[in-house]
Amino acid sequence: MSEQTLHPSPPFKRMALIGLGLMGSSLAWAARRFELADEIVGYARSEQTRARALELGFIDQAHQTAHAAVEGADIVILCVPVGANAAIAEEISTFLLPNTIVTDVGSVKSAVIKDVGPHIPLGVHFIPAHPIAGTEQSGPDAGFADLFQGRWCVLTPTDNTDPTALKRLEEFWRGCGMFVDTMTPQHHDLVLAITSHVPHLIAYNIVGTAADLEEVTQSEVVKYAAGGFRDFTRIAASDPVMWRDVFLTNREAVLEMLGRFTEDLTALQRAIRWSDGKTLEELFTRTRAIRRGVIDAGQETDARDFGRWGKSEEDVS
Ligand code: NAP
Repeated sequence: MSEQTLHPSPPFKRMALIGLGLMGSSLAWAARRFELADEIVGYARSEQTRARALELGFIDQAHQTAHAAVEGADIVILCVPVGANAAIAEEISTFLLPNTIVTDVGSVKSAVIKDVGPHIPLGVHFIPAHPIAGTEQSGPDAGFADLFQGRWCVLTPTDNTDPTALKRLEEFWRGCGMFVDTMTPQHHDLVLAITSHVPHLIAYNIVGTAADLEEVTQSEVVKYAAGGFRDFTRIAASDPVMWRDVFLTNREAVLEMLGRFTEDLTALQRAIRWSDGKTLEELFTRTRAIRRGVIDAGQETDARDFGRWGKSEEDVS
């Protein structure tokens, strides 16, 4: 499944990671393991994260400012919450070398293009990306090199994107172990709204509802948590700032999908009220087939514990 050996480009000379949490540290570990960059430098806003990144050893240098980190870099990867990109892009703008590739890992693409695009100087190649791989963990300790293995990375180039830079970036993501696809940012945001953003919202909501119930105590919720609820609590433990930004920046697509979801939920409510077992059974049979499709595509495990006890529980983000 891994395509690491298929990337013919020489490694990047200096990779600058802006943000050293789950995504930044995983990228650094992957770049180290698969020799995708000669030197890896990073920026994090807190001294604690910078010190920890150096201690763990996934970067060669830590910088106190984003603009110092990007100096001399031939690839810059923004790995901060989507809402933080605009300020960072403005700060680094005049420090970027011609021909540098600037990319990101943000879960929303239209907003990143709107926020970062205007700050990118002529001659610098800005190609947004979203590696659809993650976990509910965050911070520099959460990263691991295998995070990207066998997952898809979506790039959103435009007609004006330099083809050589695009090819190089595709090879980079393949070097991390990913399959690469391209699509428009609008389509990406719509697809991810239903496959990732709305599911997270449902998880946050159901766990919140359970926590607020008066008839059922919180200790009962914890004690009698069934498999389904436990899975929701894992998703609902995802980083609050990252997910706040996802919903604020992908508002329209999420609201569109939420509208569809609400209509379908109402239909299910009606089926339960009128004891319409046929409707329920038909839907549950159809959804079981979709689960089979996801497993057959290698994007999920059919282990009996759903991979729950495995090292990395994959989460589409
Ligand atoms: P994370 O583990 O929480 O790390 C975020 C990093 O960004 C930290 O180094 C943090 O610095 C820094 N940061 C946070 N707010 C900042 C601000 N306002 N200005 C400057 N730096 C700031 O987050 P992550 O999971 O790596 O997510 C990073 C990006 O990846 C997000 O855009 C997210 O949409 C995308 N993504 C996440 C996943 C996932 O499953 N988590 C999957 C795919 C894509 P300090 O440590 O110093 O606070």
